[in-house]
Amino acid sequence: MKSWHEECGVFGIWNHPEASRITYLGLFALQHRGQESCGIVSLNNKLHIHHKALGLVADGFSESVLDRLKGPTSIGHVRYATTGDNLLTNAQPLTATLKEEPIAIAHNGNIVNTKSIRKNLQDRGAIFQGTTDTEVLLHLLARDSGSQFEDRLVNSLVQLQGAYSLVILNSEKLIAVRDPMGFRPLSLGQLQKEDGFSWVVASETCAFDLIGAKFVRDLEPGEIFIVSDGGTRQLWLPKSPKKAQCIFEHVYFSRPDSIVFGQGVYDSRKNLGRLLAQECPVKADLVVPVPDSGVAAALGYSEESGIPFDLGIIRNHYVGRTFIEPRSNIRSFGVKIKLNPMSSILKGKRIVVIDDSIVRGTTSKKIIGLVRGSGATEVHLRVAAPPTTGPCYYGVDTPSRSELIAANNTQEQIRQFVEADSIGYLSVEGLFKAVKATSQSYCAACFDGKYPTALET
Ligand code: SF4
Repeated sequence: MKSWHEECGVFGIWNHPEASRITYLGLFALQHRGQESCGIVSLNNKLHIHHKALGLVADGFSESVLDRLKGPTSIGHVRYATTGDNLLTNAQPLTATLKEEPIAIAHNGNIVNTKSIRKNLQDRGAIFQGTTDTEVLLHLLARDSGSQFEDRLVNSLVQLQGAYSLVILNSEKLIAVRDPMGFRPLSLGQLQKEDGFSWVVASETCAFDLIGAKFVRDLEPGEIFIVSDGGTRQLWLPKSPKKAQCIFEHVYFSRPDSIVFGQGVYDSRKNLGRLLAQECPVKADLVVPVPDSGVAAALGYSEESGIPFDLGIIRNHYVGRTFIEPRSNIRSFGVKIKLNPMSSILKGKRIVVIDDSIVRGTTSKKIIGLVRGSGATEVHLRVAAPPTTGPCYYGVDTPSRSELIAANNTQEQIRQFVEADSIGYLSVEGLFKAVKATSQSYCAACFDGKYPTALET
């Protein structure tokens, strides 16, 4: 069940006759990474044209808007507000004019030393338009005295700590950047066209599948990949001794049909379920996922345990944030608005419910209540991730530690709260094994408390 919020998705394409329309499609494929705002900036004769809107990609762009976004190169962004308010001024790509040149930045991730950089800049007279962490990069670029854009970019980026996968557009280049620890994914692809191919860059490879592009490779942590009329070239940020790729991209955020950090997400999720079945077996009649994010793990659990799989809970995909309940409030609709248990499948059976994670525990409690209310004789909760014991500071919207049920309760207390017959979480070792990850290459701080950077208070 969607209990965490996605962060952001970025996309870019260089030199294609339908750049803005391809970017629109790319953003459409990345919609799961952010639904609060979207934007596209196109480059036409060294000038930028932009359009940003609150809400979904399909609602934010019309034929006439895409016609207006002329030019062979464009970048785009979908956003969930992890820092700053959900205002149009915070919608990305962020745009500005620096030293007589237009610049647009699309950012996925969260810069952890924003507060100190922002204060320092404000002390020197900087005026901020919005409240996002990305804006500090614009200010650093504006103030750097380097004569070449690339020099100014490197000088600015080395001051940032934390997570940033960026797609940047100036008057003559498209630039993709992944931070030295590689927190967030960023992939390169090539889209065939009549006279060769266009470079494309996207947060996830599922965007390439939709537009028919070939996945070439991931950007390396610390890599700056530059595309211009002169061809491509790379620059490197100072190497980090440790990588910190977000393990939660595999657990929950990324689409299952994407390849993230070199590994298929669907495979990872099935592996999570398989290992969960090994670590937390239970005697039951049916494995039922909390849709949609628990489906692949539940298939893995079912295959490993031999317990049949069925879709005992059906999800309504059309629930927006603005759902209005009847005033007379005869009963609270709560989670039933989104999830409907099928008693024809659940009645009289011992059910293993598989979820991707538990945050506050309140949704799990409601789901277990629904399954039990549909006639299940036993309800066992299995979680395809370790207990979430800490918040994320790298671009994922998590509640504070005080609200995380696993940070403040034992597993037995959580079981009692959600009213399950038994509960079982995957171990941290199982998580790393399922994703074929090592602690030197991945961040799993929200599960193991080992934050890979210093944190500002
Ligand atoms: S703290 Fe958790 S969600 Fe945040 S980057 Fe690390 S693994 Fe990902």
